[in-house]
Amino acid sequence: MTDVTVVGAGPVGLSAALAARARGMETVLLEARPRGETRPGSRALFVHRATLDRLSGISPGLGEAVAARGLVWSTRRTLWGGKQVYARSYGAFASPPFTSLPQTVVEDLLREACDRAGVVSVWGDPVASVVPRRDRVLVRTGSGAAYDAAYVVGADGARSRVREQVGVALEGTTAAAEFVVVDVADGPEPAPAERVFHYRHPAAGGRNVLLVPFRGGWRVDVQCRPGDDARRIAGEPARWLPDVLPQVPDARVTWVSVYRFHQRIAGSLADATGRVLLAGEAAHLLPPFGARGMNSGITDAVEAARAVHEGDTGEYARRRRDAAERNVRAAGIALDHLLARSPVQRAAQWTAAAVAPLWPRAGRWLDSAPYGPRLRSVRY
Ligand SMILES: Cc1cc2nc3c(=O)[nH]c(=O)nc-3n(C[C@H](O)[C@H](O)[C@H](O)COP(=O)(O)OP(=O)(O)OC[C@H]3O[C@@H](n4cnc5c(N)ncnc54)[C@H](O)[C@@H]3O)c2cc1C
Repeated sequence: MTDVTVVGAGPVGLSAALAARARGMETVLLEARPRGETRPGSRALFVHRATLDRLSGISPGLGEAVAARGLVWSTRRTLWGGKQVYARSYGAFASPPFTSLPQTVVEDLLREACDRAGVVSVWGDPVASVVPRRDRVLVRTGSGAAYDAAYVVGADGARSRVREQVGVALEGTTAAAEFVVVDVADGPEPAPAERVFHYRHPAAGGRNVLLVPFRGGWRVDVQCRPGDDARRIAGEPARWLPDVLPQVPDARVTWVSVYRFHQRIAGSLADATGRVLLAGEAAHLLPPFGARGMNSGITDAVEAARAVHEGDTGEYARRRRDAAERNVRAAGIALDHLLARSPVQRAAQWTAAAVAPLWPRAGRWLDSAPYGPRLRSVRY
């Protein structure tokens, strides 16, 4: 019997396995995908400073390695109907306040760190059943292999088999509004790295558009309007991309997807025995704006390893559910602002855009509101 079985080798499962090894626990990591199979798309780009520190806490130098592979943009701008209403540039940083890079790069670095730390990983064999007992948990995979451990951390994503096996459901809502996300590779001369939010972009039919640079490319998020055919917009980026991302001429599209804002949390982040914990997207689904998904998932991972080590899983379930609830509320505030469904909200945004040249606070509000409040009190 091992100390802990981690299910799922996404960023959260890899972090949980690494954190468990850092505490000296025998750890087995089980993943459905074959080793070396890379998932497409930039996905979670933005890694907070606190997450970089957390990664270095479980594997010395890992946060620095992630930061070295990423990019820090030094300017953020917001435009309203094509006119700039806010801009801020930062000087040099002693240490990066965040980094922006494809999720796959973070996963590669985590996987290498897991190998060095002695995590036993088994790839290409999905977990089929999870049976918790009073003093252990038995996990069986599709191939019939059995793994016996004192604890299981389910980090197997949104359609978690572990969550289903222990009879826990995701509760919450999914907004009807759709977003189209397009990844674009850098041209031969990388454009200045600026994060730009456009309210009512004239070249995107008046839709809101977010441009986020990352190491190696750009991510473009277009907020569809009610009645839009998101798949049609996603299917023909060549029609609108050159006007939306003019800083990258002859843009080469590397990934296109459509997503919705989910605000869902597992009914409990631990099963009734306290031997099976849920972490990351197995435990909560959060929208991309605000970068809460992967960042909060990595905190779950580190906290899950601590809880298993200390035998204090009830406290894990309570604290991480509290954090998820606050993240869901913050995401709801961001979504409310982005959708601006009421005339009062629309008037407030329009007024802020009109007075921003004279009153910078209004521009600052327009710049920050799409991401929801910053939760200084929450460790994501
Ligand atoms: C279009 C899109 C855009 C996104 N943009 C952002 C963003 O901008 N910012 C942000 O923070 N997040 C973003 N995300 C979300 C981000 O990708 C997730 O937060 C992150 O991947 C969650 O990590 P995880 O490890 O919990 O789950 P996952 O990454 O889903 O990993 C789960 C792993 O479990 C494995 N697995 C599943 N079932 C089994 C099984 N039965 N047995 C064994 N293994 C199994 C899967 O193969 C997978 O490797 C985006 C996601 C998408 C799809």
